[in-house]
Amino acid sequence: MAENDGKKGQQGPETILTHTGRHPERHFGFVNTPVYRGSTVVFPTLDALESTEPRFDYGRTGNPSSAAVEECISALEGAAGTVLAPSGLSAIALALLTVLSAGDEVLVTDSAYQPTRRVSDGVLARMGVAVRYYDPRIGAGIAARITDKTKAIFVESPASLTFEVQDLPAIAAIANARDIAVIVDNSWATPLYYHPLAMGADIVIHAGTKMFVGHSDAMFGTASANEKWFKALKDTHVRLGLCASPDDCFLAARGLRTLALRMKEHSARSTEIAGWLEGQAGVRRVIHPALPSHPDHALFRRDFTGAGSVFSVLLEPKPRAALAAMVDGLGLFGMGWSWGGYESLCLPIHPEKIRTAVKWQEPGPMLRLHIGLEDVDDLKADLAAALQRYCAA
Ligand SMILES: *Cc1c(COP(=O)(O)O)cnc(C)c1O
Repeated sequence: MAENDGKKGQQGPETILTHTGRHPERHFGFVNTPVYRGSTVVFPTLDALESTEPRFDYGRTGNPSSAAVEECISALEGAAGTVLAPSGLSAIALALLTVLSAGDEVLVTDSAYQPTRRVSDGVLARMGVAVRYYDPRIGAGIAARITDKTKAIFVESPASLTFEVQDLPAIAAIANARDIAVIVDNSWATPLYYHPLAMGADIVIHAGTKMFVGHSDAMFGTASANEKWFKALKDTHVRLGLCASPDDCFLAARGLRTLALRMKEHSARSTEIAGWLEGQAGVRRVIHPALPSHPDHALFRRDFTGAGSVFSVLLEPKPRAALAAMVDGLGLFGMGWSWGGYESLCLPIHPEKIRTAVKWQEPGPMLRLHIGLEDVDDLKADLAAALQRYCAA
């Protein structure tokens, strides 16, 4: 069997997921790239030690376990290259530190994942970068927010609590013309359903912890860049000393092999349950980009080929005790901060406490649901009983 480098661009994503980054011929024929746990790499000769291009030279800068994942993600994203990080958040910090310097300004979507705001406000600001938040629905209006100091625009589409879909092609066209780097958090849709680099973004990050790993058993992050930015991304990655554990690389590689199948199920199930929830008593509004009721549904249809597993639900206003009665009695939905695993989650959220550029003014408690791989009817029954408790309380 010939080696598959996955970079030819002709193969479908499902083939990339099953073949790219695997090199059985380098591992005695074993199908999967093993866990290369190691720090020290020894060299047989002075020539080998001093060679300018050793494939691997030290544990922190990579090994076959990390290279396997990098290859696969680069092929999926159509990126010049990918680097790995110990978490999604560290991949976000890396991307921002790659493109920004003291005196610069960064525009961050007001809908960004809250820790993205924390690294911006708490670290970038301290290093002399001005952080400004913008309306996620700004689209081409971003031009009015740009100054000669703007060096980066951070996009998260859709937002992972409030699910606004951003007009990335419009934002990227303006940014590209002004040499402003566009960073996109693509954790929700994954490279199967959304292609930020093809739409003009420069760096794409993933909370690999979520869909890539897919089993709620590892922390992981990736950052992939186009030709223009990959060298700087790699350089900053090396200088910051970021790396992912070889065991977690193995778990990410294993998760990726089934990503297409899992996403197909998560997409169909989240869309079905979101549509079903729209008709239920106690529910005021469902926010899922794949539903025609979503205000950005047309953008979603234009730019995405499938949906992620998470969406939000606004309930009719009721006291906290009613919400507690609802969520405390859930049988299948767990209450937890993450998503992306095979198991369903339900999390009360408070975007009104986070937003600064555009106030979040929807009344009533808000829940974020992650739809896992359980039987859909069982999930509906769990939610129906929960809504009954809510309405009765
Ligand atoms: C979870 C998450 C992250 C951060 O990933 P970690 O691995 O938890 O650091 C980033 N972006 C989004 C949208 C997320 O949901």
